[in-house]
Amino acid sequence: MRDAAPQTIYLADYTPFGFDVDEVHLTFDLAPSATHVRARIRFSPNPDATDRTFFLHGENLTLLSAKIDGETVKPKVTSEGLTCDVPSIPFTWESLVQIDPAANTALEGLYQSGGMYCTQCEAEGFRKITYYPDRPDVMSTFTVRINGPHPVLLSNGNLVSSGDGWAEWHDPWRKPAYLFALVAGDLIAHRDTFTTMEGRKVDLALYVRPGDEGKCAFGMQALKDSMVWDEKVYGRAYDLEVFNIVAVDDFNMGAMENKGLNIFNASAVLASPETSTDMNFERIEAIIAHEYFHNWTGNRITCRDWFQLCLKEGLTVYRDSQFTSDMRSAPVKRIGDVIDLRGRQFTEDQGPLAHPVRPESFQEINNFYTATVYEKGAEVIGMLRTLVGADAYKRALDMYFDRHDGQACTIEDWLQVFEDATGRDLTQFKRWYSQAGTPHLSVTETYKNATYTLTLTQHTPPSAATPDPQPLVIPVAVGLLDASGAEVMETQVLEVTDATQSFAFAGHSEKPTASILRNFSAPVVLEFDADHAALLAHDTDPFNRWESGRALALASLMAAITKGTAPDADYLQGIATVLRDESLDPAYRALMLGLPGQSELAAALHRRGDTPDPQAIYDAVQGMKDALAQTLQDDLPGLYARHQIEGAYAPDAEQAGMRALGNAALSLLTRLDGGDTAQAQYDSATNMTQQLAALACLIRAGRGDAALADFEAQWKDDRLVMDKWFGLQVGEAKPDDAVDTAKALTRHSDFNWKNPNRFRATLGALAAHHAGFHAADGSGYALLADWLIKLDPVNPQTTARMCSAFQTWRRYDQIRQSLMAKELDRIASTPNLSRDTTEMITRIRN
Ligand code: ZN
Repeated sequence: MRDAAPQTIYLADYTPFGFDVDEVHLTFDLAPSATHVRARIRFSPNPDATDRTFFLHGENLTLLSAKIDGETVKPKVTSEGLTCDVPSIPFTWESLVQIDPAANTALEGLYQSGGMYCTQCEAEGFRKITYYPDRPDVMSTFTVRINGPHPVLLSNGNLVSSGDGWAEWHDPWRKPAYLFALVAGDLIAHRDTFTTMEGRKVDLALYVRPGDEGKCAFGMQALKDSMVWDEKVYGRAYDLEVFNIVAVDDFNMGAMENKGLNIFNASAVLASPETSTDMNFERIEAIIAHEYFHNWTGNRITCRDWFQLCLKEGLTVYRDSQFTSDMRSAPVKRIGDVIDLRGRQFTEDQGPLAHPVRPESFQEINNFYTATVYEKGAEVIGMLRTLVGADAYKRALDMYFDRHDGQACTIEDWLQVFEDATGRDLTQFKRWYSQAGTPHLSVTETYKNATYTLTLTQHTPPSAATPDPQPLVIPVAVGLLDASGAEVMETQVLEVTDATQSFAFAGHSEKPTASILRNFSAPVVLEFDADHAALLAHDTDPFNRWESGRALALASLMAAITKGTAPDADYLQGIATVLRDESLDPAYRALMLGLPGQSELAAALHRRGDTPDPQAIYDAVQGMKDALAQTLQDDLPGLYARHQIEGAYAPDAEQAGMRALGNAALSLLTRLDGGDTAQAQYDSATNMTQQLAALACLIRAGRGDAALADFEAQWKDDRLVMDKWFGLQVGEAKPDDAVDTAKALTRHSDFNWKNPNRFRATLGALAAHHAGFHAADGSGYALLADWLIKLDPVNPQTTARMCSAFQTWRRYDQIRQSLMAKELDRIASTPNLSRDTTEMITRIRN
């Protein structure tokens, strides 16, 4: 029934498990290479199921004994689990297994990191801890006893009792096994308390390795802010006596929302002004919020099966983006999210890895923790809220929590509450969940008899995942401006449902200027010949004002790449005007100075049928930056000086915006002064934001060696800062040097390639260096492939994720395509390649 060849799992095949789990008791006797896990599980027949096969998942487990109702049984064991004959009435299953956390380099299940024990069970890691129906629709209470010689012993829920060398935890909330967690080690607690709106006092703690105590305060504050926000905005209070967070050095992803015991990649929680940039602080605040918000959207209401992953992830990303918008600047957050969406999700949706927000099949679910499930999943919820309005959204969410608390749900359940709360038919809207691909929305305008008419045509390019896309419901936010830039029609949301649809606006005595897709109201590629110069000068929608600058930059860069034309003077002047407007938020102005990324340019060229030349793209971007520096040469010194901060460092939005603009100015200034200002900033910097920005400028100016050596000497004992040191050198290398730089760094004594953060910092930076990775001789492809082949047997999850560096291979010229195909084939033919990587390479190569 189950063999070694990868099997494809289908959504359509879902059936419930034959048994309910009434309670789970686990006892852990911790030992690095021989941990014993005793499980006592109460099962009863599930009245809703027809198939009574008693199959428990289990991988890499040594079964020492098994009993049913106290009688020894001999289950049939395979590499994926066991089956056993069981009674047709409720019974108690007991098993004893041995596992080897010290040898667990895949970082899934129970493993060791820096001397501590920790777990990662989502999606299917619990089966590496004990035999269990490891599927999210099987929920139970857990009681966990941990025996081990460690000062800190943690699991989910509330502490029942503890003593020297042991602790017992009980989680009263029924949960799926993927939310199980255990931590043991010599850790330091940073403590605080919180009182919920229901008056419950909660003990909060952030556990870190000795030495990291000074990096806890910000994360703790972010947690308390998140708790308050979820009460205020969603009416959701926390539901246990304790909430613990643990920082772990070796972690495949960002963080994990285990009930009452969140486990974080150290990079996603530890922060201090000296070691973290403003961007790090903002990301940490968002991830802490994200994992905390999962307590309701994910834990109290979970997913029926892994196809429904977006049910919890899309909603929780949407919630954390609302939180960040409230804590900081909403337009700045929106622009950042759209840059990220275009960079990661559009790339996925427009290439061989395209899949619907709710996929219908997979081989390895870990490969579907994607930008499409997470970020497009959040966009779909944003559209839903735009369509039904804020009040109806609130009603629907209240109904969702009310109706489904304690359940494992589907996207159908989610949409049903919106239908019930609003009376709206969401049949067509549901296509956003089932169709892959980024829709294109092309818009034409006419103006006649004082009536302005917009005609919108939608087209989703067919893909392997969705060969025949149907029209979607697209909310298109539109505003109209007059020639002076005054708004003559406030934002209206047009509901596009047909392939082509027109909307007329009467009573305009002069032809208005349209601002379309305000605030990026739908995740589409907009094709509209807008008056970008006018919108850059006047649009009242901050997103579209930024977007107009971006569109002008894109057009100018495309012309430079394909025709060698000089940078567009209107663009340069328009940006200069915006930058001089001191009434605008510095963070927003800093974003205005940004240019489309090189891989975004490659995508745009590919979309219109051109073959991107990575070196030409790189050169065009350099040319544009030089032109910006020239245009702004009189402004830059003042702009730089006005955005330095005198007082104490604070990681808040206001100061971060000042530093972002100051550092954007520094970057351009470096093109004029050869790096003198950057050197001065490096020498005097007292926070990582200033130090790292200056270091980047110095490397780009070709005078970074001394500062790099100094930086290494200063930070060699700080793992997270050294990740920056590794990444920056590759990221800022000239295209010709990027591969050699990465190669040299892989020989550095601190290149601990089994640590995912370090691996990603170095080789991920190469993959992200567009012109460097796509070096004409294929050396970038070969170096990455070498390392993926080496990492796969050690850590398949991180390997598989990084294969996506090759997902755009068909965009490029024949020579590069065949060089990439060769590396993909070399990876694919590696003996014993993991299921994770096999699936990724197969999908990319096809
Ligand atoms: Zn999440």
